Amino acid sequence: HPVVLSTEDLHVYYGKSEALYEGDLKFAQNQITALIGPSGSGKSTFLRSLNRMNDRIATVTGKIMYRGVDVNQPDVDVYEMRRRIGMVFQRPNPFAKSIYDNIAFALRLRGVTAKKDLDEKVERSLRQAALWDQVKDELTKSALALSGGQAQRLCIARAIALRPDILLLDEPASALDPVSTSQLEDTLLKLKEHYTIIIVTHNMQQAARISEYTAFFNQGRVLEYDTTSHIFTNP
Ligand code: ADP
Ligand code: ADP
Repeated sequence: HPVVLSTEDLHVYYGKSEALYEGDLKFAQNQITALIGPSGSGKSTFLRSLNRMNDRIATVTGKIMYRGVDVNQPDVDVYEMRRRIGMVFQRPNPFAKSIYDNIAFALRLRGVTAKKDLDEKVERSLRQAALWDQVKDELTKSALALSGGQAQRLCIARAIALRPDILLLDEPASALDPVSTSQLEDTLLKLKEHYTIIIVTHNMQQAARISEYTAFFNQGRVLEYDTTSHIFTNP
């Protein structure tokens, strides 16, 4: 599993206060890495810095190497980079549009307009997110009518419609019930065949269930980074 993303001497400041320093973290292709640690330890700051979601509110220095390119440079095409490094948020946030259009929207923006292409990509995305069977007969219904678990899987389908390389997820199950959470975990385990996944979770059992690697954050530092089995057998 080659390394596809790594950070070098990454510092993140909100104003003058340093929220995070991480010298050297590496993410391997088609693996799930869990970012765990107490609230306020910098997990979300780290995740959001990886695809420059923090640009407007924070100062981020150091390198974020994505397949040989430092994507923390000012001349990087952030819009294109985010197509390769997609994000799913804590709260499901479907658009007030039909299920179909939630996914087709970004595809159309990127120039996919033929109905057949859109149909295929919408179906493939919903299948990969394990939502197709439940919604295939109601694609024109509003996405706002979906349950929390379905809405979150729709957000995953939306994020993967553009075929990213890396999927970042910020506590994607924290608003879900146990059944939806377990379905989401199964979906992530399948998605890792196609994508490299980095997931923030406050749930240690979840990290143990789904991830190959775990980074343990505390007070703005990664205290431990190792295979998940090591982290959980040598506390
Ligand atoms: P976690 O995801 O582990 O809960 P965060 O990354 O949200 O941690 O927070 C790390 C630190 O950065 C905390 O001290 C938090 O208060 C601070 N922080 C997070 N977001 C902001 C922000 N937008 N402005 C200022 N400080 C922030
Ligand atoms: P399956 O697992 O159903 O066989 P794959 O996901 O392996 O399908 O992909 C088959 C082909 O479709 C590959 O060439 C891949 O590049 C492409 N593909 C995968 N996901 C998408 C998507 N969301 N949108 C468009 N094309 C995709």
